[in-house]
Amino acid sequence: MKFTKFGNKLFSFFLLISILPLSIAGVIVYKYVYDRTKDEVLNQLRTAVYNHNDKLHLLLTKRRFRVVDFSSDGFIRDCVERIYSFPSEYPQICEKLNTHLIINKKGLDPDILGIEVLDNKGEVIASTSPEQTGTDKSQEDYFRGPFLSQEQQGSYFADAIKREENTEELQLVFSVMLTDKILHRPLGVLVTKVKGGILQDIIGVAKRGSGGHGGEEYIVNGNKLMIASSNADNKSVALDRIIDTEHVCDVLASKGEVLGVYENYRGVRVLGSAMYVPETNWVILSEKNIKDAFLPLARIKYIFIISGGGAIFLVFIFAFVISGNINAIVNKLIRGTRRIADGDLEHPITIGKRNDEIKELCESFNLMMNKLRESDDKSNHLFLQVKRGRDEWQKTFDAITDIITIHDKDFRIIMANKAFFEKFNFDKKQLSETRCHEIFHGAENPWYSCPLERTITSLQPECEEVDDPHMGGIFFVSTYPLLDENKEIYGVVHMAKDITSQKNVERQLIKKANELVIANRELEDFVYIVSHDLKEPLFAIEGYASKISMDNRDAIGDKGRYRIERIRSNTTKMSQKIHEILEVLKVGRVSYNFRNNNIGDIVKDVLNSLENRIKTGNIHISIQEDLPTVLCDRERLMDVFSNLITNAIKFMNGEPKRIRIGCDKDDCYYKFFVEDTGIGIREEYCEQIFKIFRRLNDIEVEGTGVGLAIVKKIIELHNGKVWVESSVNGGKGSKFYFTIPMKGEHFEGVKDSTC
Ligand code: ADP
Repeated sequence: MKFTKFGNKLFSFFLLISILPLSIAGVIVYKYVYDRTKDEVLNQLRTAVYNHNDKLHLLLTKRRFRVVDFSSDGFIRDCVERIYSFPSEYPQICEKLNTHLIINKKGLDPDILGIEVLDNKGEVIASTSPEQTGTDKSQEDYFRGPFLSQEQQGSYFADAIKREENTEELQLVFSVMLTDKILHRPLGVLVTKVKGGILQDIIGVAKRGSGGHGGEEYIVNGNKLMIASSNADNKSVALDRIIDTEHVCDVLASKGEVLGVYENYRGVRVLGSAMYVPETNWVILSEKNIKDAFLPLARIKYIFIISGGGAIFLVFIFAFVISGNINAIVNKLIRGTRRIADGDLEHPITIGKRNDEIKELCESFNLMMNKLRESDDKSNHLFLQVKRGRDEWQKTFDAITDIITIHDKDFRIIMANKAFFEKFNFDKKQLSETRCHEIFHGAENPWYSCPLERTITSLQPECEEVDDPHMGGIFFVSTYPLLDENKEIYGVVHMAKDITSQKNVERQLIKKANELVIANRELEDFVYIVSHDLKEPLFAIEGYASKISMDNRDAIGDKGRYRIERIRSNTTKMSQKIHEILEVLKVGRVSYNFRNNNIGDIVKDVLNSLENRIKTGNIHISIQEDLPTVLCDRERLMDVFSNLITNAIKFMNGEPKRIRIGCDKDDCYYKFFVEDTGIGIREEYCEQIFKIFRRLNDIEVEGTGVGLAIVKKIIELHNGKVWVESSVNGGKGSKFYFTIPMKGEHFEGVKDSTC
């Protein structure tokens, strides 16, 4: 299934509206449950601490009461008073007192470790451990305590201390002042030492996984010594661990209560409650491992992840199916619109069984297609014509064998015909990334005389002959600007015609022409020499024939004389012909003196020299005013006009007798003419008459047949052309034309004294 962009968006939208609320709800629920669990656990811990505090208070009260009770024992008081009164009886009294303490007092309570009676100086006068008798306890707190706190009438509690003996067991020491019965004077101090393990009764021993909150509870005294712990195995094991955590320090410093999450003495993150006990300067702590505390939450998390994942999967499937379905319809609509764009209005869009807005959309679409097809026949026809025109244009474009490309102003090729791709074997996709000069010339910059660059600047068509080995030949390149409605250039049409073979032929022709010119010149030289050399033998023949005729006048007779006369006549004719040939050849061999000469003056001089013939012939001559001044050889131009005007006079027959001389001006040359109303020339002879000795015998006039040959030669040496327009039928006479370039260009090789 191919997704459209719309399909992707739809799919993403479905996922977004389902996953996002689900995720937000999940986070909120998780946070709520987390906070509730945390509060609940902290409350549990706090309650436990309070309970322990109450129990501790009870325990201490009970123990204090016990020591006070002992101090009011009459036997003990009597014994002590008697020792003071009768020191000599001390040993007997001491023994009795010891026995009394062991049997009657210690025996009452298994938790009592020992009972001591100290005198006013702190010396043990009786003890449940008789070996202690006589030892000095004056430095002990429990001795000094009752004396120091005079106002304190009750018992003194001396914190939890270790026994001096090697055992590590803790003991709680309670002491109370002993006074006489009547005056209540201090007699000494009564001390009871109780097992520290009784504190365990308060804390209890935690059994993992069963009851309570499953954490650790412990008591730390003012010296940060752990004195009870729920993790201790039994009562007798004393705890020898200093709890110097930040949390305990805070509570001791603030003498208050702290709840929260912190790292305990084991380095474990716990939820905990700590409470300061002012009565003893202790701290009771109740803690729970954070992992255990939030164990139910972890379960909820897994349940949430599994159910959430399932829900997301279902939404994914749902979104996939729905968006795929809509996507299929959108694709159909896209294909439908593309078909319309291609001119296919015959195939409606089908979407199967549906009954929703999409069906309505497709129906509307099909309706639109029908309307378009029915009511827009003209447009359709026009569209097809345009399409056909476009196809034809494309085929024509590709059919042209010249390379045609259309460029933008940045020298990039927008379009190219088939010939281009065949020539350069270039990938169409890379066209827009490459400049044309990189393709055509393999250069980073445009060709030094690039017509395309010139067209972009001049907005005019330009052309150039490009001979670049990179293009593999010689090309005639022409460029045409493409202008928009504001006459601004937006592109250039570039045509490159391969003229390599044409150029080769041209070069060969020029070579041949040059060879021909040289051969012609050699031939002319040869004819000139031969003609010149023939003159002498002819003179000799003519001379000897005359001498034979003169010397043997009688011997040769009339017949002989006639024959000799024929020899002389033919040699004269031959001599004449040779002379004329030499005259024609001379035209190309003499030096030309090119200067600016006014043609009107030349014509006038020629007419002056022909004045008699004009008058005799009664011919009317008209000369165009303002004949131009041109760069020419004056003498030769006089020969040209003289020959043409003489012929016009010679071949005049009948009325009217008119000769018109003038000039038409073109862009590059002057076009002179000599027009007469003479006999005219048949069309088929209009070219032949310019060849030497070609004469038409339409009427009997004298002539040699070299005049027009000389005219032709002179005009060609002025880089011009000569021709005649004439007709014998219309009776219009003949009009001889010749041209002379305005810039005075002339044949190479002509001897030119000025240019
Ligand atoms: P020629 O005049 O000596 O015969 P040209 O070379 O001057 O030699 O002329 C060649 C021929 O061209 C002429 O014999 C004539 O038949 C024809 N011709 C030249 N000029 C005219 C003209 N103006 N009208 C008719 N025919 C002409």
